[in-house]
Amino acid sequence: MATKGMLIINENRCKGCGLCVSVCPVHILKLADDRFNVRGYRPVEVTDPEACIGCAMCATICPDVVFTVYRRRARRERPAEAVGEEAPVRW
Ligand code: SF4
Ligand code: SF4
Repeated sequence: MATKGMLIINENRCKGCGLCVSVCPVHILKLADDRFNVRGYRPVEVTDPEACIGCAMCATICPDVVFTVYRRRARRERPAEAVGEEAPVRW
C-alpha cells in the first residue's frame, strides 16, 4: 500500500542549515538558490511534492520547526471476490 506525504513549510522560520536536505530519503528538498526569506536565509524548497513519502525525517531533524508533515494512505480495495459482501475498507 502506497503511503504519501504532504508537507506544509513555514519557510520564514528556516535558517538554511541544510540538515533536512541531507536526510530526505527521496532527495526532494533543496535550499532556494534565487531568493531569501524574511530572516535573510535561503529557505528550503520541495522539488517534487508528489514524491514525498511522509517519513517525517525532515520534521524530526529540523531545529526550527519548519515542517508539518501529513500522511495519507491509499484506500485499500478488497479483493474482487469479496466485493458485494460489505463496503470496502477505508483508511
Ligand atoms: S517527509 Fe520524508 S520524504 Fe517527505 S520531504 Fe520530509 S524527509 Fe523527504
Ligand atoms: S533543517 Fe529546518 S532550518 Fe535547516 S534548512 Fe531544513 S527547514 Fe531550514
